[in-house]
Amino acid sequence: MPEATQTRHEHHGRYPQAASVEDFRRNLARVRARMDAACRRAGRDPAGVRLLPVSKTKPEQSLRLAHAAGCDLLGENKVQEAAAKWQAMQDLGDLRWSLIGHLQTNKAKLAARFASEFQALDSLRVAEALERRLQIEGRGLDVYVQVNTSGEASKYGLAPEQVAAHLHALKAYPALRVRGLMTLAVFSAQAQRVRQCFIQLRELRDRLRQDAPAGVGLEELSMGMSGDFEIAIEEGATVVRVGQAIFGARPLPDSHYWPHADTQATS
Ligand SMILES: *Cc1c(COP(=O)(O)O)cnc(C)c1O
Repeated sequence: MPEATQTRHEHHGRYPQAASVEDFRRNLARVRARMDAACRRAGRDPAGVRLLPVSKTKPEQSLRLAHAAGCDLLGENKVQEAAAKWQAMQDLGDLRWSLIGHLQTNKAKLAARFASEFQALDSLRVAEALERRLQIEGRGLDVYVQVNTSGEASKYGLAPEQVAAHLHALKAYPALRVRGLMTLAVFSAQAQRVRQCFIQLRELRDRLRQDAPAGVGLEELSMGMSGDFEIAIEEGATVVRVGQAIFGARPLPDSHYWPHADTQATS
């Protein structure tokens, strides 16, 4: 694997705001070009990596421009914000929603109404609450189990050694279609530390796949964001979640979304 690829955290919080469909088209093309280049370095087929645009904190108007530029699945990390946007954009019939942030049990009912995908499953209580509501709604949901690969107490997700038992327990919830694993790497400009998180997720997936329960899919690895998706692709990501490089910088520091995130790390 290429070892020289660096993080791009130096752009963090500095991407210009996308304000037109053209801006979104250009940003999407740039991100895809970087994804394709990472695939080439790793000898991978670019068709094997999906780009999930992340629209959290961005206003409805901005999401509409992204949709006009071709985004039909958007990632949001807070269910109430996502639900409000879903309701406001019912006129866009093909727009679907991916929830990528921690979900509280009491919000499962809301999530089950509209989400197509949930990438941050980390407790059986949430799984059970989702299953119950999905059964009532007559819906299914693609899910990713979130794993804490950085060892940081501030990050959500299961410890790697808890994942096998968790996957076996998920057999009891047929409305949840397990697709794979998701992680957030350590936020660091030290590319080797970031890469180590991604390697850990891939190796865990490879081990678990050997005796995964029937019906539990482990094809997908959701890892990598604006500052580190190239490294994630080099290490096997099949989904990258990219916000700022497409939409522009967010107004608030990451500590607002992930308590205690180290946003000071630069070089
Ligand atoms: C916000 C967020 C992202 C995208 O981060 P960017 O820096 O905007 O690319 C990815 N994953 C999760 C879980 C997020 O909350």
